[in-house]
Amino acid sequence: MHELGITQSIVEIALRTATGQAATIIHSVTLEVGALAGVVPDALLFCYEACSKETLLEGSRLIIEEIPARARCRDCATDYPLVDLLTCCPACGSAASDLLCGEDLRIKEMEID
Ligand SMILES: [Zn+2]
Repeated sequence: MHELGITQSIVEIALRTATGQAATIIHSVTLEVGALAGVVPDALLFCYEACSKETLLEGSRLIIEEIPARARCRDCATDYPLVDLLTCCPACGSAASDLLCGEDLRIKEMEID
C-alpha cells in the first residue's frame, strides 16, 4: 500500500509548513489528487489518521479534492477528459495525446491558527 508513504510525505510537508508559520492548531489540510495519480482517496484518509497521531496534525481534517485528468490530442488539438490512459480522442479517434493534468498530488491549502 504505497498510500502510506505518500501520506507520510504529506504529513511531513504539512507539519513543516505549519511550524514555519508558527501555527499552534491545524484545522484542515486540503489535498488535490489527480484522477491518474494512482492513489485511493479512502486509503489516504485512513493513513492520514494514523500518521497524524501525536503530531500537530492530530484531529485535523484531510480534505481530498479529486481533479479529473485531461489530455490534448496531438492530431487535432482537441482537449478532452481522460478516463484512463487508453482513452482516445473523441473528435478524431487518435490515441496520440499529451497529458495536460491529472497526475498531480499536492497540498492546495491548509487552515491553521
Ligand atoms: Zn483528435
